[in-house]
Amino acid sequence: MTFIPFNQSYLCGKESEYVSEAIGSRALSGDGPFTKKVQENISSLVGAGKSLFTHSCTAALEMAALLSNLVPGDEVIMPSFTFVSTANAFTLRGAVPVFVDIRSDTLNLDETLLEQAITVRTKVIVPVHYAGVSCEMGAIMNCAKTHNLLVIEDAAQGLYSSYKGKPLGGIGDMGAFSFHATKNISCGEGGAFVTNSSELGERAEIIREKGTNRSKFFRGQVDKYSWVDIGSSYLPSELNAAYLLAQLEVGQSISNKRLKIWGRYHDAFLRLEHDGFARRPIIPQECEHNGHIYYLLMPTLDSRDRFIAFMKEQGIGLSFHYVPLHSTEHAATCSRAASSMSNTDSLASRLVRFPVWPGVESELDYIIEKTYKFFGLSA
Ligand SMILES: *Cc1c(COP(=O)(O)O)cnc(C)c1O
Repeated sequence: MTFIPFNQSYLCGKESEYVSEAIGSRALSGDGPFTKKVQENISSLVGAGKSLFTHSCTAALEMAALLSNLVPGDEVIMPSFTFVSTANAFTLRGAVPVFVDIRSDTLNLDETLLEQAITVRTKVIVPVHYAGVSCEMGAIMNCAKTHNLLVIEDAAQGLYSSYKGKPLGGIGDMGAFSFHATKNISCGEGGAFVTNSSELGERAEIIREKGTNRSKFFRGQVDKYSWVDIGSSYLPSELNAAYLLAQLEVGQSISNKRLKIWGRYHDAFLRLEHDGFARRPIIPQECEHNGHIYYLLMPTLDSRDRFIAFMKEQGIGLSFHYVPLHSTEHAATCSRAASSMSNTDSLASRLVRFPVWPGVESELDYIIEKTYKFFGLSA
């Protein structure tokens, strides 16, 4: 029996051709023709004025944190149910992550808890679009406007998803995407920073290029480039851009394949949910998603762990997800919780993710049958 892995990166077939072309060009440093095409592609997908290719979503979040002009002690509101980079990008600036609980339907930041979490030190709200399903951006943007806060979307999982027709990542002041191997489209390690603000976009270019105005120099807008601001190196080589471009060109169809698999699980597990064995994901009407994650919520932590172990014996790789940040030892040294974390604790401990990678289609009947078997039922 061959093992069905939880994840497998997609290969569209054109990656080698583009990477060879990049190698042949003898110009592999960043911001060459492949990077330009990648950025144009992302800008048009997201409807963003400026897109910058980065080494990772982590790097894009760090750029966003630098652009927020934070000083030590400033507060950044975010969910605890997220990847560490959402918080680390800001603790690197001496800012304090302030965690609020998540909604039980989407597992996204609960927008009704924002008001009570805001203090005189609050500067930024970071909505994380879990599973590529949008946060309640209407209420979040309104709250940010009222209190003069920046909104930085962690859209690591959100390319090809939208909220009320608006692509994720392009709704807030800044957005960050991931092209890590576990995401819908990838180049192994990669990311993008996006913004609609020309002011932030201009400074983002400088921060990404070691604090220099090198991009302006290349566009012929200045006759030499020099040190003009703080910065670091956040631009990847053309090799990464070449690989990613091949995937971006067919990105919508990759997401469509995942959505089909997502739909198969969702239909098959309707009866499980109806009979009270597990809960399926809930997609609000205003959200269009990209099939990034299919999960079930089991009754308890114990049943979740037993289910993962049972499926492993059947040759099926399932996976839990985040250890809530507020519950870690490190969190006590640099962050605080601004609400009860009961939804976060409960949902994170009961969540289990299924394989949704294109290619797993032929195994779905088997996976669904074994899921029903775990509960002592037949599919
Ligand atoms: C994957 C992910 C990240 C980190 O992405 P990298 O590209 O690996 O840095 C950050 N936030 C969320 C929500 C993610 O899913």
